[in-house]
Amino acid sequence: NEEEEELSSLFKSGIYRLEPNSNIIFIDSVRLLNRSYSRFSVSPSQYYSRFFELDRNEEKTRVSSNSTKSNRRKRKFHELNEREQSADQRHKEARPLLLRAHEALLEAKDLLSFLYNLRKSCCSSIQTQSSVPSFIDLGSVWQAPMYEISMHFHSKSLLPNATGGSDLLQCDEQKLVPIFNNLVINDTRDDAEATFLDNSYIIPRDSCFHMSNLEQIHNLIPGNPNNGYNLIVIDPPWENGSARQKSVYPTLPNRYFLSLPVKQLTHSEGALVGLWITNREKLRLFVEKELFPAWGVSYKTLIYWLKVKVDGSLISELDVFHHRPYECLLLGYSHGFLEGMDSEQLSTSSCLPENQVIISVPGDYSRKPPIGELLLNYAPGPRPARCVELFARELLAGWTSWGNEPLHFQESKYFESK
Ligand code: SAM
Repeated sequence: NEEEEELSSLFKSGIYRLEPNSNIIFIDSVRLLNRSYSRFSVSPSQYYSRFFELDRNEEKTRVSSNSTKSNRRKRKFHELNEREQSADQRHKEARPLLLRAHEALLEAKDLLSFLYNLRKSCCSSIQTQSSVPSFIDLGSVWQAPMYEISMHFHSKSLLPNATGGSDLLQCDEQKLVPIFNNLVINDTRDDAEATFLDNSYIIPRDSCFHMSNLEQIHNLIPGNPNNGYNLIVIDPPWENGSARQKSVYPTLPNRYFLSLPVKQLTHSEGALVGLWITNREKLRLFVEKELFPAWGVSYKTLIYWLKVKVDGSLISELDVFHHRPYECLLLGYSHGFLEGMDSEQLSTSSCLPENQVIISVPGDYSRKPPIGELLLNYAPGPRPARCVELFARELLAGWTSWGNEPLHFQESKYFESK
C-alpha cells in the first residue's frame, strides 16, 4: 500500500510524501544528509540533540515561560501596527495549508511511530560541546593565510589484471592545502577525512568548500559563466536581535547582502535561487522591494518549513505572533547578465510547485533542513546541476559550500562510522 511504499522511501532516501502527488513532504534530515556519505553516517543523536535537550527540559521551561506566554498573549490582543497587520495577513493565508500539512502528518500513523523510534535511538549518546577552535575567529587573524588543512583521500579504481579480469586498487593520498580563502575540493567518489589543529572533519565525496569572509566572496565567481551555478541556496546571517543568535554566529545588516554577487555566480543558462528568511515583515519587504531586484532575481514562489517534535506536535503554537513554528524559503530565477530574458524562457524540466510544505524535526540552532535535493529538478541548465550554498555550515555531495564556517557541522563528532 501507499503508506508502506512511502515508509520504505523514507528509509532509503529520507523523503516521505504525505499525500499522493501532494506538496506536503516529511523529511528525515539525517537520512537525506547520509546520501552524501559512503563510509560515515550523520549521528541522529547529534543532529537532533537540541531538540532532545529541549524535550528533557520541557517541564522546567514550561513553568518558567508561563509568564512570558501570557505576556505574549496579552500583546497579541494589543492593536497591531500596519506592518504587523500585513505579517498577520500573510500568516492567515498560510494557516489553512499549514494546518492541513500538520493534520496529514498526524494521520500517518506509520510515520509517527518512525518518529517515536527516532527518539529511542537518539536518547542514548548526546555528546557535550567540544573545544574546537572557531573558524570565524581563526579566519580573521593575520595568520589566516598560513593555516592549512590536511586532506586524506581514499579512492578505488579497477585495474585490468593478467587473467583478463580486474583488480580493485585502493589508493590513499594525503594533501596539505590552505584552509582559508581557498577552494578545497574532494573530487573522489569516497568520503575524505581531514585534520585541522588536531581535530578531524569528514568531507563528502564530490564536494568543495571555500571558507572566507564576505569581502572574499568574489573569489568564488567563475571565470566563465558556463561554469556558474544552476542552483544557489542562501541562508544569510540576518540580524534578529536574539541573544542566542549573537552567541552562535555574527550577523550582518541587510544592506551587506545587496552586494552578494548572485548575478556573477549564475550559470549562463540561469539559476534557481532559494533564500531562507525569517517571519519578520520588514525583512520580507526588503527582499521583495530591494534584494531580489538588486540580484536580478524574479520571485516565483515559496516553500514553508514546518517544524515538529518527535511526538508529531508543532514546536510552538501556530498562532503565537513572534514564535511561529515555521520559516520560509523564497524561490526565484536569476538570469545572470542576460537582461530582458523572462523566467519562462529558462529551460527547466519541471514547473516549481506552489504551496509546498516540508515538515521535519529541526537540528541545531538555525540549522536548515537539507532540501537542496528537492529543488534540483527545478534548476535550469545542464545536468548534473551545479549547486552552491552561501553562508553554509555544512558540505553536501555535488555542492560547493561557501561561508566563514562551512566545516562547522563536518567535525567528526557529528558522525558515526558505518
Ligand atoms: N544554513 C546554515 C545551516 O543550516 O546551518 C546556517 C547559516 S547561518 C543563518 C549564517 C552563517 O553565516 C553563519 O555560519 C555565520 O557564521 C555566517 N556569516 C556571518 N557573517 C559572515 C561573513 N561576514 N562572511 C561569511 N559568513 C558569515
